[in-house]
Amino acid sequence: MTAQVLVVEDTPANMKLVCLLLDRTGYRVLQADNAADGIALARAHRPDLVLMDMQLPGIDGLAATRMLKADPETCRIKVVALTAFAMKGDEERMLASGCDGYIAKPIQYKSFLAEVARILAAPPTRQETPP
Ligand code: MN
Repeated sequence: MTAQVLVVEDTPANMKLVCLLLDRTGYRVLQADNAADGIALARAHRPDLVLMDMQLPGIDGLAATRMLKADPETCRIKVVALTAFAMKGDEERMLASGCDGYIAKPIQYKSFLAEVARILAAPPTRQETPP
């Protein structure tokens, strides 16, 4: 069974590129252009990985990641932040919010796909959020 990846990204060009790369690699892909739809899709489909844009309208990527990680139904789903701003403090905030990793935009094809594969293959990096 090929892995299923949910992409939450509001910029159409980024969404198109990320989904094209994932699709060509053989992953099953789900798409949402906002956090609320992404959370609903994550609950409904339980993807193996969520690629979460950090800068989203409404609920931002950090808040959406916290919501996924706080919900027993979705807390085991790996979340990788997609971010155009990856300074030291940002990395710490992303990891504190429950992200399992992050990928800087603009994405580089080979390193992007390598990171997706690495995270999918890695054991869970976090304890489940206590109730
Ligand atoms: Mn965005």
